[in-house]
Amino acid sequence: MSIENSKEVTFQDFGIAEVILRAISEQGYTQPTPIQAQAIPHVLQGQDVMGAAQTGTGKTAAFVLPILQNILPHANSSASPARHPIRALVLAPTRELADQVADNAQRYAKYTDLRTAVVFGGVDMQPQTMQLRSGVELLIATPGRLLDHIGQKTVSLSQVQILVLDEADRMLDMGFLPDLQRIIALIPKERQTLLFSATFSPEIKKLAQSYLRSPVTVEVARQNAAADTVTQVVHKVPSEKKREALVNILRARAARGLSKQCIVFTNSRLGCSKLASSLERSQIKAGAIHGDKSQIERMQILEAFKQGQIDVLVATDVAARGLDIADMPCVINHELPFNAEDYVHRIGRTGRAGAQGDAIALVDSSEEKLLADIEKLMNRQLLRLPVPGSGSGPESDPFFYMPYRPGQANVPEVKPEAQKQDLPTKPTKTVGALLGGMKKSS
Ligand code: AMP
Repeated sequence: MSIENSKEVTFQDFGIAEVILRAISEQGYTQPTPIQAQAIPHVLQGQDVMGAAQTGTGKTAAFVLPILQNILPHANSSASPARHPIRALVLAPTRELADQVADNAQRYAKYTDLRTAVVFGGVDMQPQTMQLRSGVELLIATPGRLLDHIGQKTVSLSQVQILVLDEADRMLDMGFLPDLQRIIALIPKERQTLLFSATFSPEIKKLAQSYLRSPVTVEVARQNAAADTVTQVVHKVPSEKKREALVNILRARAARGLSKQCIVFTNSRLGCSKLASSLERSQIKAGAIHGDKSQIERMQILEAFKQGQIDVLVATDVAARGLDIADMPCVINHELPFNAEDYVHRIGRTGRAGAQGDAIALVDSSEEKLLADIEKLMNRQLLRLPVPGSGSGPESDPFFYMPYRPGQANVPEVKPEAQKQDLPTKPTKTVGALLGGMKKSS
């Protein structure tokens, strides 16, 4: 994966133990990403941290690596569960994110005697219970399932030294505040608390005030901005023509040899399933991922997508949150989200960790207000282009300018006729965010 790193610092500079460094280098990470360069020293010093960083910036390692380093003195190979109390707890909003964080943690901890585990709902509790009973130093959990385990007394939080609230904004959006309050009440007050969130809303600030002590703020993703490697395009399409437009876009991309892989966002679970079935009828290999699917089904579809057995993942916001799909080339909004911030989250699936990406939105007349909200939030006007196949000449084809090919102009040369058609008078280049405030390196 291409990733833009901070040239000034190396992982060795942090004083991280060799057993962890070895695992990092095995992952192919040569240098810390900006969020890692900023957050790791503070976390190592035991400070509370408020991190503004989207998924895709390397934020997971930004907290997992220093946590492992800090709890490393407790690592031991004893078989006694009492020697392996939970020292660090990561709370995450979705099963997928929890699973991903745990997967990363396991990789980074593989040469240590530290034990990691993950618990989330929708799957049998028994194997989780057994793992918890045998002892775990780093636990990653979704709030609801953790409370189930607490209720069954299979887990004690009395020795937790470090608490992480990952994607805290989403946890609040999903109504987890009461669960968080119940869980945090069981953790010693003398602890280190880290909070990561894509945005710092007033609610997040309130949460931080309640639970963090003099936190250091680290920020690499400028609030409400998208990575500057993402090209954003809007197609105005009547709602009844959206499905056809989507098929045209997917075919136009395939015809140009671009990756067929793409995530399509819809607003409802029903719409999500229907759209996936409809794409299948057009011979496009698609799968739906939404909250009505069981955890097993979601994992299977995600795996099929990662393996390239399906090309198009049709998803709702909640299901897609936190999915780590490397080098996702394209995100399509079949409908705009009701909340402008969700647009930022959605397009955060592409252009991750310095990769190039396209974010395409199909917008009908009823969504004008939502589009205006998004443009206001992002403080920029998005490029409007006709749908491919809807006219003649290259300017009818949004891909004629190959926006994400190196060396190509980011914005097409606008002909006078085309300009009349809804193009912004001054198309703006996407604002840099991944490295916001940081020096770019090649
Ligand atoms: P995250 O934002 O934590 O979801 O990470 C995004 C992706 O970047 C993941 O696939 C990580 O494995 C990868 N990554 C994290 N840190 C680094 C690094 N220092 N160098 C290269 N890749 C990294």
